[in-house]
Amino acid sequence: GLSERLQSIMKKLRGKGKVTEADVKEAMREVRLALLEADVNFKVVKSFIDRVKERAVGQEVLQSLTPGQQVIKVVNEELTRLMGGEQSKLAQADKPPTKIMMVGLQGAGKTTTSGKLARFLQKQNRRTLLVAADVYRPAAIKQLEVLGADLNTPVFSLGDQVSPVTIAEQGVAKASAEGFDYVIIDTAGRLHIDEQMMDELKQIRERIEPDEILLVVDAMTGQDAVNVADHFNKQLGLTGVVLTKLDGDTRGGAALSVKSVTDCPIKFVGMGEKTEALEPFHPDRMASRILGMGDVLSLIEKAQSAVDQEKAKDLERKMRTLSFTFDDFLDQLQQVRKMGPLEDMLSMLPGAGQVKGLKNIQVDEKQLARVEAIIKSMTPQEKAHPEIINASRRKRIATGSGTTVQDVNRLLKQFEDMKKMMKQFSNMAKGMKKKKRGG
Ligand code: GDP
Ligand code: MG
Repeated sequence: GLSERLQSIMKKLRGKGKVTEADVKEAMREVRLALLEADVNFKVVKSFIDRVKERAVGQEVLQSLTPGQQVIKVVNEELTRLMGGEQSKLAQADKPPTKIMMVGLQGAGKTTTSGKLARFLQKQNRRTLLVAADVYRPAAIKQLEVLGADLNTPVFSLGDQVSPVTIAEQGVAKASAEGFDYVIIDTAGRLHIDEQMMDELKQIRERIEPDEILLVVDAMTGQDAVNVADHFNKQLGLTGVVLTKLDGDTRGGAALSVKSVTDCPIKFVGMGEKTEALEPFHPDRMASRILGMGDVLSLIEKAQSAVDQEKAKDLERKMRTLSFTFDDFLDQLQQVRKMGPLEDMLSMLPGAGQVKGLKNIQVDEKQLARVEAIIKSMTPQEKAHPEIINASRRKRIATGSGTTVQDVNRLLKQFEDMKKMMKQFSNMAKGMKKKKRGG
């Protein structure tokens, strides 16, 4: 994928003590190809490469002590700029409810994203009314009602015999009357953009005057997603884009082109089918993720929403000081299960791809029970200082926990791997803090 290619180009540069103009040009040629192959719009690629070259071939970079790093910094900054620079937040009306209209092609993820947004807002103690205005797709209303029931969020509908314009209007009226903070209108999509759909959306827009018109597009469709965004924007005037299915096998081009082609910011990305799989879009973090610098901030945020605050703080301190014991390890495994698939979490860690033995860290129920038994058979001293666990202690622990010496060995190995990752994590976090302070 794009990320792997860019990472290997950057790695080559990083390894060099001195970077010549030819090195930069060669690297940019490779970056250009990688971006084009990732389906980034060619005009976007051209202006991106021109900007990076202009900055990276300059005196400042070639004469700096770490020219390779300096080029990477320029690429990172320009990628961030390309995706909009600053994070673009969801609108908030002066007078509630904030009205959000969801638009997009059929199957892009409008209904799912409506539910995800309601959940996202719920976490911030905001009450949302969902409005089922897709009267065309069979079972579309039911789909939203099921989502709403799961989230304990009310869904307004008038069946499928009433015009979507009326439904939207009455939904907004209800949200106003009942003091909702947000009202989200889930509209219908078609397989292709057509005039009738646009007319209807325009009517809804005129009637309810939304604060946000969010276009939901499927990242897997690459350049098509960008064309769709361009078209909807010209017809309706979008306020933001939600890029869905970024968890899939996407080439990444859409994320990089949407903002510069349409001038509409990406506000959220969908990372899966479940309602919690929605993330605010941060251009800088996405750029770092693409360049393989990890995404520590997203990881910390995710951890904080799942782990209770005190534990998160405690864990952060332990990561910093590396005073991480087997008790923490067990606790961590249990917490991690709450956060979602471990692999998702680990892929966000800087350099996680390079950590050997990562694949061995799996958290299934059976294994967790075994791990728990082993750790409970350790003495407090062994838990705090695993380096003292010699052969005879291993045998005793295995017997005590009803496992084998191999099981104990495997766990000790995993613990070491985890500690290594913590170390990377903590170095990375320190680096980021420094960078922030330096501006
Ligand atoms: P709509 O026609 O625009 O309302 O699309 P839906 O919300 O019904 O979604 C269409 C399909 O895409 C459903 O199967 C969703 O589960 C799936 N989907 C939506 N968002 C995501 C996402 O971010 N990741 C993945 N993997 N699937 C998604
Ligand atoms: Mg739908």
